[in-house]
Amino acid sequence: MAKVAFLGLGVMGFPMAGHLAAKGHEVTVYNRTPAKAEAWVARHKGRAAVTPREAATGAEFVMACVGNDDDLAQVATGPDGAFSGMGKGAVFIDHTTVSATITRKLAAEATALGLHFVDAPVSGGQAGAENGQLSIMCGGSPEDYAKAEPVMAAYARICRLIGESGAGQLAKMMNQICIAGLMQGLSEALAFGQKAGLDGEKVVEVISQGAAGSWQMVNRHKTMLQDKFDFGFAVDWMRKDLGICLQTADEIGARLPVTALVDQFYKDVQLMGGGRNDTSSLIRRLK
Ligand code: NAP
Repeated sequence: MAKVAFLGLGVMGFPMAGHLAAKGHEVTVYNRTPAKAEAWVARHKGRAAVTPREAATGAEFVMACVGNDDDLAQVATGPDGAFSGMGKGAVFIDHTTVSATITRKLAAEATALGLHFVDAPVSGGQAGAENGQLSIMCGGSPEDYAKAEPVMAAYARICRLIGESGAGQLAKMMNQICIAGLMQGLSEALAFGQKAGLDGEKVVEVISQGAAGSWQMVNRHKTMLQDKFDFGFAVDWMRKDLGICLQTADEIGARLPVTALVDQFYKDVQLMGGGRNDTSSLIRRLK
């Protein structure tokens, strides 16, 4: 069992840190808003720290799951950031979805301090975090990954090293690119069915078992038909992720025409007041 710090107890981090404690790791949590850390300590075995640095002091592994590039930089290298508390040889595991650029920068800073860094963004949403069934795609050295993998196993369904530093984040971009086009296709099909006067649930029962089937179709069609959009991954976060994908595509010379269009559709949803709706709310602009 390891000494672990977890920074960021949001929708994802709160249950992920809980799984670490349930496995018997010695967990110290940090959250910017202290009430969430207090709520976590009331529910799980472990303690709370008031800064990332304090949480990271003496930890063998420091996990982060915060918001965007700036947030990650703040908890890692800002004043009272985790890097300043970590001892040589400790491993920083980043579960935030961020750019490969900030990842490589922080990994280089970690190396210079004698620390290790693994980028490990996740997929599987709130339910995956709560059930300990996340898909984790990692970047870093094989040695660092080998140390981190058994600890991440507490909340992983599958965990793989994809390549060197930043490769985990690039893999997560592929994940988000897949979801963007898929969500628009599913939204169009369901809205089309409603206009055609079909029973959407009856149709999905059949087509989800054929070539059109997807996780989104199985798990989201009912609530999309009922205009319920309170299921985890927020549109605001999706736009952050698609922004990273589009910028990276520019940098590497890849083309993402449909992703760029769907990003604008999500902007429409934000303008309709749906920034905190989940990503299946793309159908709202078709109704
Ligand atoms: P969330 O519920 O909004 O939680 C964000 C967490 O980060 C909160 O604990 C917040 O602290 C903390 N935070 C943000 N900025 C910070 C800063 N500058 N300094 C310190 N703490 C800061 O977000 P989430 O849904 O858990 O998502 C977290 C990350 O995972 C994001 O990068 C997201 O894209 C990614 N992700 C989310 C999902 C999902 O389904 N939700 C799935 C896969 C990946 P406060 O409590 O003080 O606000």
